[in-house]
Amino acid sequence: MATDDPSAAHLWRPYTQMKQAAPPLEAVRTHGSRIVLANGRELVDGIASWWTAVHGYNHSHIAAAVAGQLGTMPHVMFGGLTHAPAERLASRLAALLPGDLNHVFFTDSGSVAVEVALKMAVQLWLNRGEAGRTRILAFRGGYHGDTMGAMSVCDPEEGMHRRFGAFLPSQVFCDLPRTEAETAALDGVLARHRTELAAVIVEPLVQGAGGMRMHPPEVLATIARLARRHGLPLILDEIFTGFGRTGTLFACEQAGIVPDILCLSKALTGGTMALAATVATHAVFSGFWSDDASAALMHGPTFMANPLACAAANASLDLFASEPRLEQAQAIGARLADGLEALRGRPGIAEVRTLGAIGAVQFTRPPDLGALKARFVERGVWVRPFGDIVYLTPALTIERGDLDQLIEAVVAVAGSVGTTAG
Ligand SMILES: *Cc1c(COP(=O)(O)O)cnc(C)c1O
Repeated sequence: MATDDPSAAHLWRPYTQMKQAAPPLEAVRTHGSRIVLANGRELVDGIASWWTAVHGYNHSHIAAAVAGQLGTMPHVMFGGLTHAPAERLASRLAALLPGDLNHVFFTDSGSVAVEVALKMAVQLWLNRGEAGRTRILAFRGGYHGDTMGAMSVCDPEEGMHRRFGAFLPSQVFCDLPRTEAETAALDGVLARHRTELAAVIVEPLVQGAGGMRMHPPEVLATIARLARRHGLPLILDEIFTGFGRTGTLFACEQAGIVPDILCLSKALTGGTMALAATVATHAVFSGFWSDDASAALMHGPTFMANPLACAAANASLDLFASEPRLEQAQAIGARLADGLEALRGRPGIAEVRTLGAIGAVQFTRPPDLGALKARFVERGVWVRPFGDIVYLTPALTIERGDLDQLIEAVVAVAGSVGTTAG
């Protein structure tokens, strides 16, 4: 029982029923795609620590950049001060992102990057003298984070709405416009709520934590077209998809669209430090450029643009420039598609889907997650099924043998779900 575990006395763990959960495994070291446990075992990481460690763990180039920065200036406040790591990172992100997404606001987590994006959209309308636009149009199946505003735009059924109810701001939800009827419905909702909506938010190409649900670029293009038609800023949450995960550096490139506001985090520092960014176009930024001090964007986290984190992110971008990450993502995708194909049509398996370096297997009904997790660990892999899916999002640098081990484990463990009890 977890209550016998001495660590349970002080640590409160994420999304965990502390009374029921198996004690966590103790990690003592990482290298490449491996997590080394206190008992000496090594696990091949199939999910790159919540999709962050795209270059594998402990990449020497990132480690050296962080160590160098640690010796000169680990942190300095960002109010009234600036520093080269942040200046350089902002201009590099602006150059890499499509269109004129040129204005970068740094924060320290994905959820807060989403909060800032929502606040930016609402304040943009306030600055224009339109006070009634305080609601956001979001899509069913989405996940945007765990803070108040972010929770309010997560899936209204499976998200945390049901638990927190009236505590959350009330938003407007639609299905992704996959069909003509859904496109017409979205158009209608946008028209009906026109005077109260501030923005549209969506995860481009894949709804990650909501269940690894993928949609084609045309769906994203439709959302962008309708948002524009109704004069609403489009916020793309690329926190999961950014930095090569879908096979392009940013998912929005595949639809040929440029959002008004874009959120980044997860792989931004290559999984080394907490950092996030909310990036706005020149038009959005201009909405805050004023002789009126109260029109300024009202946000400023204590640790924003932390120099260590910015140094890590700059080093991560060096690696995207000098090493073939996008080709690696595509090669992983091909291997995932090929290997997971064996599960298609098997008992208990509803769907197998892949996109970029993401492979997901959906069960016909939620399996016993605790049992599945334990079986993966027995097989020497770190894979974390949730809800009714199991997925792989390995480091883009994963070695072929490690990737094969992950795929074999998923095929063996998921493939037996429909044939064994529980
Ligand atoms: C993880 C995630 C977030 C939240 O990021 P945190 O750093 O956990 O706050 C928001 N949006 C998406 C799409 C994510 O995958």
